[in-house]
Amino acid sequence: MCGLVHSLLLHFIMCNGVYNVVLSGLFVSDEAYQKLAVETLEELDWCLDQLETLQTRHSVSEMASNKFKRMLNRELTQLSETSRSGNQVSEFIASTILQKQHDVEILSAACKEEKKRRPMSQISGVRKLSPSPSLPPTCTPRFGVNTQHESLLAEELEDINRWGIDIFKIAEFSGNRPLTVIMYTIFQERDLLKTFKIPSDTFLTFLMTLEDHYHVDMAYHNNTHAADVVQSTHVLLSTPALEDVFTDLEIMAALFASAIHDVDHPGLSNQFLINTNSELALMYNDASVLENHHLAVGFKLLQEENCDIFCNLSKKQRQSLRQMTIDMVLATDMSKHMNFLADLKTLVETKKVTSLGVLLLDNYSDRIQVLQNMVHCADLSNPTKPLELYRQWTDRIMVELFRQGDRERDKGIDISPMCDKHTASVEKSQVGFIDYIVHPLWETWADLVHPDAQDILDTLEDNREWYQSMIPRSPSPTPKEQDSRATLGIAGSAGEKFQFELTLEEEDGELEAEEEHTDKDRSSTMMDPRHAQTSPRGVAPVLDSRERELDQEATSVSILQLET
Ligand SMILES: [Zn+2]
Repeated sequence: MCGLVHSLLLHFIMCNGVYNVVLSGLFVSDEAYQKLAVETLEELDWCLDQLETLQTRHSVSEMASNKFKRMLNRELTQLSETSRSGNQVSEFIASTILQKQHDVEILSAACKEEKKRRPMSQISGVRKLSPSPSLPPTCTPRFGVNTQHESLLAEELEDINRWGIDIFKIAEFSGNRPLTVIMYTIFQERDLLKTFKIPSDTFLTFLMTLEDHYHVDMAYHNNTHAADVVQSTHVLLSTPALEDVFTDLEIMAALFASAIHDVDHPGLSNQFLINTNSELALMYNDASVLENHHLAVGFKLLQEENCDIFCNLSKKQRQSLRQMTIDMVLATDMSKHMNFLADLKTLVETKKVTSLGVLLLDNYSDRIQVLQNMVHCADLSNPTKPLELYRQWTDRIMVELFRQGDRERDKGIDISPMCDKHTASVEKSQVGFIDYIVHPLWETWADLVHPDAQDILDTLEDNREWYQSMIPRSPSPTPKEQDSRATLGIAGSAGEKFQFELTLEEEDGELEAEEEHTDKDRSSTMMDPRHAQTSPRGVAPVLDSRERELDQEATSVSILQLET
């Protein structure tokens, strides 16, 4: 928002500058005078419009994110028409980030499973575990854990600052303690134990307790994923464009947030928890259910014996670290993806760079926004890693999704998109996931830190090609299917890719084309058919007054639909 106000002011000053020259009448002819005056008035009109819009209840970022959602919605509608598997991939993406829910019969039986307990009396999931090995500082092993493979572990950890470290080998060589080992190594590398006077035995006790609260039987959302996100965040924090941008406290918060961001994950989606009236959904009123839970458990564990790693922070530091951690973990909720991406795009459009070439982030809102997107990127970094690692992650997430699908089948409720092991198309879903979610995000991140993330982007694009080449060709696609595939770059030739590009710029003919479909769109989709238009200079999308009316109507329609 601040970035936009800033650019508005600049815009305004430029207009005024022209206006003054015009008024002085020294350098311009009559005709040019008239022309400039008209243009200036138009510019000023636009500025006023912008300022007026800022005061409506829709923030600019909300409008930008709605525009992106509308663009994505349109793409997904096309994709769903290509084939049955296209339809499933499209539903999967829509349900993941557009909060579109298919109709599900709400189960009332689920709550009977819960035993009678005092309601909301405690944070579930915090377990008393067999005593964690509290190690006196004198005998702390080199990487924080006892292992017979210390030298092999040392070899792998040499890559601690590199994108694409083999986290699975680290899990293996550490006796399934990847999170503890990664956090301990990174905190030492960054000297954070000394800076914040964290006793190393407390640090290790907390880490092992935290690691034990990730479920061992979870295929994807386990301690290895947490360790992977921590290490990815660590590398992103060190990107040259962000050198010396963040304070040690902010760095520690980002690493801590990454470490706790999926703790006690049950391997089920927010939507599943909501649809089955789970205790967790009840506790958090259906809002970012899991993310709130991970935070609650993560912070609760600090209260366990000898676990308060922040004991020597000042009260202010603790408060600030807690706030940042909350902001970052909540930003990992995929249903917020478009909002954060839209904000990041706006930040990139207005980014300021110091003379040394590093980003200038001079207020909390911009700083936390970059950190939120950073952790979100790290959380969505599997497709940007070396292919053999990425493929392992894909296998794991599919196991978890299918397990949820099995539970849904058993309960007799609709099986969530991509969760039906009998029909899911793994390769197509990865291509769709990259095209519509991962690539737009990473492309924007790469713009922000340009040119630091070019290698990451290249790997992502190569991996996307690989998955695309692995899509089994259906025996005889209909001419219509072939046609749509070619348009969408799905299972086509290698040249077609990344057809879906998010932009704040106005799309050609967008308004006219969509005008005709407004009514149809509104009744047929939960997505609001907002018509955004961009500023003359493409700073941010704005709605005119008629569109604002439509917009509010559409929102009410959506709310009504949500409530029924
Ligand atoms: Zn995660």
